[in-house]
Amino acid sequence: MTHAPNLSTADYQRIDAAHHLHPFTDFKALNAERSRVMTRGDGVWIWDTDGNRYLDGMAGLWCTQIGHGRREIADAVHRQMLELEFYNTFFKTTHPRAAELAEVLAELTPEGLNHVFFTGSGSEANDTVFRMVRRYWTLAGKPDKQIIIGRRYGYHGSTVAAAAMGGMAGMHEQAGMVPGVHHITPPYWFDFGGDMSPDEFGIWAARELERAIDELGEGNVAAFIAEPIQGAGGVLIPPETYWPEIRRICAEREILLVVDEVICGFGRTGNWFGSDTYGLKPDLMPIAKGLSSGYLPIGGVMVSDRVCEYLIGDGGEFFHGFTYSGHPASCAAALANLRIMREEKVVERAASEAAPYLQAKWLAFADHPLVGEARMKGLVGALELVPRKPSRRDRFAPVGDVGTIARDISFNNGLVMRAVRDALIISPPLVITREEIDELARRVEKTLDDTH
Ligand code: PLP
Repeated sequence: MTHAPNLSTADYQRIDAAHHLHPFTDFKALNAERSRVMTRGDGVWIWDTDGNRYLDGMAGLWCTQIGHGRREIADAVHRQMLELEFYNTFFKTTHPRAAELAEVLAELTPEGLNHVFFTGSGSEANDTVFRMVRRYWTLAGKPDKQIIIGRRYGYHGSTVAAAAMGGMAGMHEQAGMVPGVHHITPPYWFDFGGDMSPDEFGIWAARELERAIDELGEGNVAAFIAEPIQGAGGVLIPPETYWPEIRRICAEREILLVVDEVICGFGRTGNWFGSDTYGLKPDLMPIAKGLSSGYLPIGGVMVSDRVCEYLIGDGGEFFHGFTYSGHPASCAAALANLRIMREEKVVERAASEAAPYLQAKWLAFADHPLVGEARMKGLVGALELVPRKPSRRDRFAPVGDVGTIARDISFNNGLVMRAVRDALIISPPLVITREEIDELARRVEKTLDDTH
């Protein structure tokens, strides 16, 4: 069957509505509205079939660090496709791109993470984590250590174990829960801080981990999994006191620390990894998204020497893996992306130029009548929309309606933002320029005014 290249927008919308079930979507509601049909990208911009241009304030889906449309990546993938489009990495085989990428990742990621298990996505990376931490403790002679502690509003993916470790109530309700997972309060001062100062609350929230370990029994707890900044949960930037206290608890207690860098990794928070930003030493570190800037699907779990001491031991086969673990074309895309990021100093320049410039503009939105809090770290931020200031306790009802309305208004104003509950989220490509940031800020302001 041939691919029809030039249908009208309405025709694309019609066939899409007839046959395509979209992720995280109310299918009926989407069919009533119809999708925008995106066709082209360049830098921070994307275009739809009607020629409308949008500033991509979400970097695709928190991933397009180097921006859209870089030819070098297409060329690298093309070369790889002609040479070896696919081979597996299962049965004592590898290929040059997988080996090269593994070495580059060992070099780039925080000290002690010298091995990678490749996956096709962030969700698969976290399902790998689920199996790997339990395997680790069994090999280490402590098979009772099975429970994984995550956080409410945490997001680790959509596969079954990843969704269980995440703290999205809707996902748990629709598919049931996996046993052996426990959730604690996230460091979300704006919602859960009560009368505490952010710093007091940071300590309190971190000690939830200690309380949970005591309650569940240290001999039963395998790991704590957390994003450095919770992304899909609403860009929850922890108070400064939070991570040092978690570090103390992890050092004193015998549990593994899993730092999910699927969003924070590859420059989002101002350093190569969120772990660098917060001084964390992960035992396991899931990665995806920015690894290839989203050009092709690829993820992985960085595994520490501590875990590998047992994993690469006498325990025999690890019964886990994916057909596309280390897919040659995806590895080629990731290598080309990382080469661009290093040669063009994308992370360093974003941290020293784009981030401070955007932050100044973003934080100033706190003065808008609709904004209860503006927060940003590196190039990821949120605006909490509230009905009445100065109280941060008042919320729109039902929660989520205003956020969704504002997000849709923003799209119509030519800026892609995302809504989580009533927070507007921004996470632009790291290569965004000053002029583009000025444009982004103008569109945010218009969106807030139009929503008000
Ligand atoms: N972990 C985090 C922190 C994420 O934000 C996501 C996706 O947004 C995932 C894991 C899942 O990644 P994927 O959608 O590639 O399966």
